[in-house]
Amino acid sequence: MSLITNDHEEFRAAVRKFTQEEIVPIAEDIDSYKYPDIPQEIIKKMAEQGYFGVIFPEEYDGLGLDYITLSIVSEELSKGLLSVGSVMTRGILTGTLLLAHGTDDQKKRFLPGIATGEFMTAAAFTEPDSGSDTGSMITKATKVDGGYILNGSKAWCTYANRAHYLTVLARTDSDLSKRHKGLSIFMVEKEPGEDIDHPNIKGEPIPTVGYHGMKSYNLSLEDVFVPEENMIGTEENRGFYQLMETYEAARLQTAARAVGVAQAAFDFSLQYSKEREQFGKPISEHQAIRMKLSEMATELEAARQLVYYAASMKDSGKRCDLEAGMAKVKSAKAAEYVTREAMQILGGYGYSKEFPVERFWRDARVISIFEGTSEIQHEVIAKSLLSK
Ligand SMILES: Cc1cc2nc3c(=O)[nH]c(=O)nc-3n(C[C@H](O)[C@H](O)[C@H](O)COP(=O)(O)OP(=O)(O)OC[C@H]3O[C@@H](n4cnc5c(N)ncnc54)[C@H](O)[C@@H]3O)c2cc1C
Repeated sequence: MSLITNDHEEFRAAVRKFTQEEIVPIAEDIDSYKYPDIPQEIIKKMAEQGYFGVIFPEEYDGLGLDYITLSIVSEELSKGLLSVGSVMTRGILTGTLLLAHGTDDQKKRFLPGIATGEFMTAAAFTEPDSGSDTGSMITKATKVDGGYILNGSKAWCTYANRAHYLTVLARTDSDLSKRHKGLSIFMVEKEPGEDIDHPNIKGEPIPTVGYHGMKSYNLSLEDVFVPEENMIGTEENRGFYQLMETYEAARLQTAARAVGVAQAAFDFSLQYSKEREQFGKPISEHQAIRMKLSEMATELEAARQLVYYAASMKDSGKRCDLEAGMAKVKSAKAAEYVTREAMQILGGYGYSKEFPVERFWRDARVISIFEGTSEIQHEVIAKSLLSK
């Protein structure tokens, strides 16, 4: 039985149209830095379509739809440009954290803004010396009257410039040996803009090979005051556990983004193979190319179905670390493989900047690195299998 209903297909058709009309025409210009980042006009239009609120309840101004719809939206937007399909990842992470662990007051204050796209958020978890090993992070949150003072360095905080709130993981227990048991999550308010402009938060973007359209920042936080009502939940030192319980949503969405990038590369190379002639016939009639197309389509569909399956598990209300981990590993691999083969099918033109396939290839490379590396996903999968 297919997990995809007519409603899902209708939603897909609408997002596909949006991508074709709004994103595809400027994707190359965003990639080549003709814009500083994704134009705000596009973000506004995405918000009007409700894309930021797909999975959030209607009571918080979301669309109240399922994770399969979210996967479809993410996949279709990422076919246009990976960074556009990624803008909402941050809201999903922060929003699901708040939904599961926030107080009633926090849900009311933050969720409607996140669901409608009025507030952008950015995740400040990674640090220069603390990536996969979250328990080793050292950014400090010191309790003072009425709140906390944050000090430390964060790395790779994507979209920090445009964010109205940074979702910061910081150490509320100064004893470093407590590791992941001493962390809390804070909503740090700031002004959005083209660059970071805050008296106590400084930041510089890190140049990257792909994923253009959103900048990822190294940040330094110096005596940043956060009111106590902006610590997610009511209890200190729950941050790591809160994060782990909600990571699966962001990983699922990331897996769907990978499927979108792979599909875009596949579509382009399929069409090219029908048009490009060598040895007196279209290259699609040479067996080696037909094998490639067949293998690419098979890997791509396997990844997509695993994403929908993991999404359906999430929709049924069950924890789906195992399935979301599998979907992320599989789709990251499929995206790298399919974009590589698409480039091969285009031959020299695949390596040129004249066609978008080299962009798909560069963008695909990051999927196995962010939102938990593939190595860490394999750990998550193995842990889940071995604990049964
Ligand atoms: C473009 C981009 C955007 C990003 N955006 C954000 C963001 O918005 N917010 C944020 O907080 N972070 C963000 N990140 C950071 C990202 O989440 C980290 O890069 C990732 O978690 C890995 O951490 P690391 O880079 O420090 O690598 P490390 O943790 O140092 O890992 C290096 C290598 O060792 C492997 N490794 C580490 N531990 C183990 C282990 N136990 N077993 C096996 N292998 C292991 C890793 O898989 C990797 O191959 C972003 C990264 C990139 C590239």
